[in-house]
Amino acid sequence: MCAKDLKDSAAETTERFYSELVLRHSSDAVVISDPAHLTLWVNPAFTAQAGYTDTELIGHDAGLTLRGPETDPDTLRQINLACQQRREIRRDIRLYAKSGAAYWVDLKVTPVYDAAGRHTHFISTMRDITERKLLEEQNEEMRHAEALRQSERQLLALTSEWLYSAKSFEELLMVIKRAMHTLIPEADGALYVYNESRTMLDLATSWGSLPDFPRHILPDDCWALRRGRAYAYGQKPIQFVCDHVTKPDTPYFCLPIIAHGETIGLMHIVFDGFEDGGVMRHMRADVLANRWEISLICGEQISLAVANVRLRQELHEKSLRDPLTGLWNRRWFMDQAQREITLALRDGRALSLISVDVDHFKAFNDRFGHDAGDQVLGEVGRAMARLGNEKLHPCRIGGEEFILLAVDHDRAQALEKAEELRALIGKVQLTVLGQNLPSIAVSAGLGVLGRDGSDLQDLMHAADRALYHAKATGRNRVVSEAPPLPDTIAR
Ligand code: GH3
Ligand code: MG
Ligand code: MG
Repeated sequence: MCAKDLKDSAAETTERFYSELVLRHSSDAVVISDPAHLTLWVNPAFTAQAGYTDTELIGHDAGLTLRGPETDPDTLRQINLACQQRREIRRDIRLYAKSGAAYWVDLKVTPVYDAAGRHTHFISTMRDITERKLLEEQNEEMRHAEALRQSERQLLALTSEWLYSAKSFEELLMVIKRAMHTLIPEADGALYVYNESRTMLDLATSWGSLPDFPRHILPDDCWALRRGRAYAYGQKPIQFVCDHVTKPDTPYFCLPIIAHGETIGLMHIVFDGFEDGGVMRHMRADVLANRWEISLICGEQISLAVANVRLRQELHEKSLRDPLTGLWNRRWFMDQAQREITLALRDGRALSLISVDVDHFKAFNDRFGHDAGDQVLGEVGRAMARLGNEKLHPCRIGGEEFILLAVDHDRAQALEKAEELRALIGKVQLTVLGQNLPSIAVSAGLGVLGRDGSDLQDLMHAADRALYHAKATGRNRVVSEAPPLPDTIAR
């Protein structure tokens, strides 16, 4: 051996010594294995990390020993493939220590070759990244929660937009049903509305799968209605279940719906989905707290939307009513009559118009004054309203001109109603300043769909001609059909 060889050999020994020193004192775990993955050597950091001593692992496949139930199989496949192809690979992977505890490492597997290029070993280094992974997971959870909140906010904004565009109560119910089911998917719900006399609340709509909401509830049956504020059942140690509740063991919310300061209804939300295992037991409190917030916001939005729809309906109704008599006005009559004629023609049903005019009204006005005249119009309106129903619509279409839109009434039925009205008005006794006024009378004429034509103008024209004939032949009478016009005029 020459001096140079001796020098080289000394250098090699020193290098080996240093390498081993580095591996021994490295804070990264190191496993050296043969090409068949059988462990030849592990460093102390590995034992500290995984809990296995070298004697426990030598001769075994460390990869098989360290993997566990949540080790990603796809990552394992990628590592195996790289080893087969003798490629270096680096991956984050979840491993299991001897104690059974899971930990994350940044794993690098490097194939090692000898001077002749033969594959002799694998060196696997594993840096513990458990803390970083936990932080990442927490961040991920936070991002997920934030994304959920964001989508809830968007849904709420969308819901409020739809609630405000509802034109009728029916439309509003449709939006509420859809929105609540989407916003709180694990709950069923129902909306109750006070009846006219405010003695009871009627079921207006319900959503979800619970079929047995009572159709009516009494105001005293509900703690939210009794206490005048939203009520959450199922989370507090001292609580009493509302009498209207059908599943007393299920958490629920009751939220009063308030429009213009008046409680007009109740939203009832039942967390029935919890029973089906939809929400894990330990998460229920969190879910309920979140849903409570959403429900309160929805309750408020629904309250505002109901108030909005009511106001809209009142304004709309006002624009279609005659202020003196409260009957439908000309605008309503023209639209509705047109609609009913179309439907009657389509379905082959009868329809008639009864045109009504006060007799000698000008004279009455002149003699007793305009206010007394208005009283007469008010009485005629009242008589017409008494007669009215869903098939017989009383309208005031001009100064003292009234019309009854008689849906499903043929000539004979309309004639009967007109006579009834005439008799009713004949019985009216008016007094001004304690003084009885002379009785009033009306004349009426009929227009009949089919007989007199098939559009609104034809029927109004026919009814007016019949009315004119009633006036011409003595007044205080009903004429169901005007005589044909004399030849000279007809031509
Ligand atoms: P006829 O028996 O032929 O119907 O005679 P009439 O006097 O009733 O004649 P007409 O039907 O043409 O009378 C219309 C009168 O109705 C004219 C007008 O002074 C009166 N009038 C119209 N609108 C009102 C109203 O709102 N209040 C009052 N007090 N009178 C009205
Ligand atoms: Mg008139
Ligand atoms: Mg008149």
